[in-house]
Amino acid sequence: MSDARTEEIGRNLAAVRERIAAACRAAGRDPAEVTLVAVTKTHPADDVARLASLGVLDVGENRDQEAAPKAAATPAELRWHFIGQLQRNKARSVVSYASVVHSVDSLRLVDALVDAAVKAERETPLGALVQVSLDDDEHRGGAVTGIIEHMAESIAASPVLTLKGVMAVAPLGWEPDAAFARLADVSARLRVAFPGADWISAGMSDDLESAISHGSTHVRVGSALLGNRPPLG
Ligand SMILES: *Cc1c(COP(=O)(O)O)cnc(C)c1O
Repeated sequence: MSDARTEEIGRNLAAVRERIAAACRAAGRDPAEVTLVAVTKTHPADDVARLASLGVLDVGENRDQEAAPKAAATPAELRWHFIGQLQRNKARSVVSYASVVHSVDSLRLVDALVDAAVKAERETPLGALVQVSLDDDEHRGGAVTGIIEHMAESIAASPVLTLKGVMAVAPLGWEPDAAFARLADVSARLRVAFPGADWISAGMSDDLESAISHGSTHVRVGSALLGNRPPLG
């Protein structure tokens, strides 16, 4: 696509890529280690196609109801990252289009994803990240400390899932540096047993620099690319 909106997204994309590059320079990291996942929630499928035309093939969504029709309406070469709280009854739908689920937050969800992935007869395993609750508050999404290892074992034991690593959102009211340093610790501990689980999904529009300084490999960026979303209704 080439229209005014594509140009606008292209300018935003250049700015975000420059922020990622600057954060990598400051941290002594290679920008090739950091994947940009464009979070397209609330924005139309045409914007996903515009991103694809600009070379952004990793896209993230947080609701199946919105993601499923968008995935069906956009180029097949895209990689869909599911990043929101996932109800077990949506697992079947999500495994039909997602490459990876960042927000695996319970053993019961692991089981549901295994079942769904087996039934879907996927050609490739579904990537799975353990979403970590950094403040150990079970009510705000994410697995608490004692559960993370069990979930990792259960994911790694399944031939239809691949354990990719960990994901977190900085808790409200926390300094991003404190949150992402803690996530880096969780990742380092996990990699002792699972060296291949080296993804750290961390950093959004407002805190990607901090996340990159603490080793993020996947930043999930929405508003800085596509503009502000309408407030949740
Ligand atoms: C919406 C969302 C993002 C992107 O947030 P922005 O502040 O718009 O960059 C990242 N991660 C998750 C889990 C989200 O729900």
